[in-house]
Amino acid sequence: MLKLPVYLDYNATTPCDPRVLDIMLPYFTEKFGNAASRNHFFGWQAEEAVKWAREQVAALIHALPEEIVFTSGATEADNLAIKGVFEMYAAKGNHIITVATEHKAVLDTCKHVEKLGADVSFLGVKQDGLLDLEELQSAIRPETILIAVMYANNEIGVLQPIQEISRIAKKHGILFFSDATQAVGKVPVDVIRDGIDLMAFSAHKIYGPKGTGALYVRRKNPRVRLSAQMDGGGHEDGRRSGTLNVPGIVGFGRACEICMNEMEGDNLRIKALRNKLEVALLNIEETQVNGNTGSRLPQVSNISFKYVDDNRLMMGLSKEIAVSSGSACTSASPEPSYVLKAMGIEDGLAHSSLRFGLGKYTSEEEINFTIEQVTGMVKRLREEINNV
Ligand SMILES: *Cc1c(COP(=O)(O)O)cnc(C)c1O
Repeated sequence: MLKLPVYLDYNATTPCDPRVLDIMLPYFTEKFGNAASRNHFFGWQAEEAVKWAREQVAALIHALPEEIVFTSGATEADNLAIKGVFEMYAAKGNHIITVATEHKAVLDTCKHVEKLGADVSFLGVKQDGLLDLEELQSAIRPETILIAVMYANNEIGVLQPIQEISRIAKKHGILFFSDATQAVGKVPVDVIRDGIDLMAFSAHKIYGPKGTGALYVRRKNPRVRLSAQMDGGGHEDGRRSGTLNVPGIVGFGRACEICMNEMEGDNLRIKALRNKLEVALLNIEETQVNGNTGSRLPQVSNISFKYVDDNRLMMGLSKEIAVSSGSACTSASPEPSYVLKAMGIEDGLAHSSLRFGLGKYTSEEEINFTIEQVTGMVKRLREEINNV
C-alpha cells in the first residue's frame, strides 16, 4: 500500500536508518558519559564510542581518524573551514575563490569574511552548472589562500570536476575546501584521490541524525592549520570546543559504515528509479532537465516545466508528494533559484522548476504515482493558463 505523502526531498534531509537509531539509544540513557571525562568509567565508555565512530567516519572518505573534527553539522563545518583558514593564513593572503552556486552556508560565510577584510571572487558557472576551469585558473592571484568549491550541488546534483580543481589548487599552493554534504555517502569520495584539504559533510543527509556533522582537516601534504571558531575546553584537538554530542556522533559513525557497505547497491536501484521518473516527466511537452546529466548524483533530478509556476505546482502536489522548488515561496514576489539563475536559465524556466530527490526508501510504486500526479497537475495548470 502506498503511504501518502510520498517523500521526494532527500536532498533536504533523510530519515534515520533504524539501525542508526538503535545504536544511538543507549548513549542517551545508560551510556551517558562525557567523552572528555578522563577519570572514570562513564567517560571512558563515551570516549571509546566516539573513537570508534571517528574511525567509521574517516574510513568512508579515506581519511585518518585524527583528521575528523566533529561539528553540529555541515553549516558549522563550512563556517569553521572558511573562517578558520581566513584567520590562520591572514599573513599569507586574503583572497578566497568560490562559486555562485555554493550552498548559503558557504556563500554567506564568504560574505562575512569579506566584511573582515577578505577579498572573495564569486565565480559563475557554465549553462550546465559546472565551473569553468580556465576561469578558475585566471582568478588565482599571489594572495589567494583558499578555493572553496562544493562536490555536488544540492539543487541540481551536478558533480564539480573536483580532481581537476584540486590539481590547480595544489599547483599554486592554495588550500582546497569542498562542501561535500551532498556527495558523501552517495558517490565514492576519497580525500586522497580527490586532493581535498578540508571537507564538510553532515549526518542527516546520509540517514544519520540531525545536528551532527564533520570537517575533514588534512594532516599531511600539506598539514592544514585552522583557527578555532568555538573557544572553550579545547575539545577536538583545540579545533572545536564543546562537549561532544556522543549519541549523534555514534549514529553518524554507523550511518557512514552503512553507506560504505551499501551505497553502491542502493544507488544502482535509486538511479534506475530516478531515470524512470526523469524519462517519464520529459515526455511532457516543454520540459527540460537542469544541470549536466553526465556528471551528476544518482538520486536527484531538477526539471523545469515551462509555463507552470513551480510554487503552484508544488502546492498543488503537496498533499500527495513532498518535493522542493528552488525559489523562495514565502515572499510576495518569489526570487527564482540563485543556482538556476547563475546557470543563465531564464526567469520563466527557473520559476517552473522542481527538485525531485530520491533516497534508499523510495519505491517503484511511489515513482509511478509521482509520474501520474505530476503529469496530471502540469496538464491542469497549463490548461488553466490557456483558459484565462
Ligand atoms: C544540507 C547542506 C548543508 C547544511 O548542512 P547542515 O548539516 O544541515 O548544517 C550545507 N551544504 C550543503 C551542500 C547541503 O546540502
